[in-house]
Amino acid sequence: MLTIENLSVRYGGIEALNKVSIEVRQGESVLLVGSNGAGKSSLINAVIGLVPAASGRIVFDGKDLAGTSCPVRARLGIGYSPEGRRVFRSLTVTENVLSGTLGTPMAEAKANLEWIQDTFPLLRERANQPANQLSGGQQQIVAIARAVSTMPKLLLLDEPFLGLAPVWIGHISDAIRELQRRGTTILMTEQMARPALKLVDRAYVIRGGEVRRSGTVDEIRDVALAEEYL
Ligand code: ATP
Repeated sequence: MLTIENLSVRYGGIEALNKVSIEVRQGESVLLVGSNGAGKSSLINAVIGLVPAASGRIVFDGKDLAGTSCPVRARLGIGYSPEGRRVFRSLTVTENVLSGTLGTPMAEAKANLEWIQDTFPLLRERANQPANQLSGGQQQIVAIARAVSTMPKLLLLDEPFLGLAPVWIGHISDAIRELQRRGTTILMTEQMARPALKLVDRAYVIRGGEVRRSGTVDEIRDVALAEEYL
């Protein structure tokens, strides 16, 4: 579904990614694990079109994404939940979720909202509450719900556990499992290897902008856990 070939990303003189190649197949969940500054967000941002690729190719669903804008990539079926659970703080929970569906026909957006509220009951319970009144974990649920509000084929989750208490890491994990059960393909990044490895089929260990190891969870567990302490 997603093929990244020799992707390099640079910010001025800083090389954030150096010839990274990654594959995500339909129905799979794949983890990109690495410490602070490893290049995880740079990769996600290159896939959604927020930062340009200095070189390399990103192919989604058979289409080379070079030269396509963020909105076009979203319409092609790429959903994105940013690092740091960025929600619109003064908008209600429902408004936040629906903000992801701008441009979608109203009937479709409403049907999607029903599905999302069924999947994450919290969103119905807190529908009319401003997002800034929610806890960090609850806001992360809202951010993920917004990302899936357009029923993306591929969901990108950038550090969904960042700054969350263990109990909320458990709730977010349950939410991710529910999306997997419904067939969503997922590429997630995390520094916290331990809980993330429980959710995925395969993982790539990234350090200094390069893929150091990749394999099934069993194959790379030890290396990935060591990375957590760097
Ligand atoms: P974190 O967990 O801290 O978000 P990360 O693995 O997501 O880390 P990136 O944010 O992709 O890593 O950063 C990779 C490298 O690129 C780092 O050295 C970082 O300082 C640098 N970098 C990231 N964004 C920019 C930017 N906008 N301008 C300059 N350098 C940047």
